[in-house]
Amino acid sequence: MENKITMDKIVNLCKSRGFVFPGSEIYGGFANTWDFGPVGVELKNNVKRAWWKRFVQEDPNTYGVDCSILMNPKVWEASGHVASFGDPKMDCKKCKQRFRADTIVENHSKGSVSAEAMSDQQLEDYIKEHHICCPHCGGFDWTPIRKFNPMFITSRGTLEAEADKVYLRPETCQGEYVNFLNVQRSSRAKVPFAIAQIGKSFRNEITPGNFLFRTIEFEQMELQMFCKDEDSMSIYNNYKERAWEFVEALGLKRENLRFHDHDKLAHYAKAACDIQFNFPIGWQELNGIHHRGVWDLSRHQEFSGKSMLYTDPFTNEKFLPNVIEYSIGADRLTLALLCQAYDEESLENGESRVVMHFHPFIAPYKVAVLPLQKNLSDKAKEIYSKLSKEFMCDYDEAGSIGKRYRRQDEIGTPFAVTIDFETLENNTVTLRDRDTMEQIRLSIDELIPYISERVKFN
Ligand code: ATP
Repeated sequence: MENKITMDKIVNLCKSRGFVFPGSEIYGGFANTWDFGPVGVELKNNVKRAWWKRFVQEDPNTYGVDCSILMNPKVWEASGHVASFGDPKMDCKKCKQRFRADTIVENHSKGSVSAEAMSDQQLEDYIKEHHICCPHCGGFDWTPIRKFNPMFITSRGTLEAEADKVYLRPETCQGEYVNFLNVQRSSRAKVPFAIAQIGKSFRNEITPGNFLFRTIEFEQMELQMFCKDEDSMSIYNNYKERAWEFVEALGLKRENLRFHDHDKLAHYAKAACDIQFNFPIGWQELNGIHHRGVWDLSRHQEFSGKSMLYTDPFTNEKFLPNVIEYSIGADRLTLALLCQAYDEESLENGESRVVMHFHPFIAPYKVAVLPLQKNLSDKAKEIYSKLSKEFMCDYDEAGSIGKRYRRQDEIGTPFAVTIDFETLENNTVTLRDRDTMEQIRLSIDELIPYISERVKFN
């Protein structure tokens, strides 16, 4: 990422041009919540469409679902989220990793200290006295210990007395696990097959921040692939490649991407890796690909009492499938794409422009309709209404044509159609390309096929 791109520039552009606004702003905001504006909602929807196209539409072995945000609280017992409520947690402020303070003390003392019996204060003192550094990054910059509840709690029932604790889901994947049998039976799916979902998750993050990077409410685009043990490592490796191909095809540059394999794994996991992007705040996780073994289905089998076994239709063998998870944040990816697309260009005439070089598929508007003068607006509106049946279009008749081009460049509109007096004579318009700024003359009838061909995501 070039030095001139800072998070402040991205935040300011997002606010001024209607990509993203601070949440609840007229009340002084609400920390780490953001609202997508008219341009931003188009961008993010297109990012989600691209993901769904690549991983659901184009894959005959993947089935989509859209599950409830509120789930039976037992789901969160099975997932381990409820059990971890009382654990003494602390975060490394440098790398943002969260650890159990008692585990850190026990590992450091090689088991000679019984951390379980220590109070939070004693744990903190011990870590300070022994200068125990972050096992992940080696830093020594800890938050205080907190009994941290990672889930937002709400309640159901109209009377206080009836109130039952309910959680806002902190991850979408549990919806796929609990519907594993439903999807398998209703779609007659055979392993290996995946269930995919795009939806909101809520996390009571201790250290949210950096604009859309880490928020308390965000959207995940993720899939869970169910497979045989013997196929699982090659499927895991295949998703690493597919995940990379997807973000590169969408516009992230190879030099700003890298794999990061995890050295430390959860006890049930067989492999885990992230793809990292070079954000203005440094290299950070963009997505995760995890080999989760049979952990998730075995936990749901145990907690629900329902068999989650899959019967092989050829051999009749019954087994619990392994799970390969691929998960990417829609907001975090949108942020990466905003950072990648941002450019400040010096033009030959001495002026400069800010231009967002989005892949045309994700650009909020595909085309802007610009009458050269106000008295051409009837014709321009006629063209707008024709084009808007096919694409998201913008219409702008305010200010000089140069200023209007700049406004479209700033929101990344790949094409601008200018209506002039020749249009009235022979039904032709000029079409300007955002990136090259070159203009060609086309007949109005050629516009839709010309633009359609250039805004595809293949
Ligand atoms: P991180 O280490 O950054 O907290 P994670 O490993 O907890 O992420 P997962 O639970 O695997 O992340 O979630 C999958 C993806 O969802 C992440 O790769 C990221 O793109 C996105 N994501 C996770 N937490 C947040 C958040 N608080 N805000 C925005 N996006 C998030």
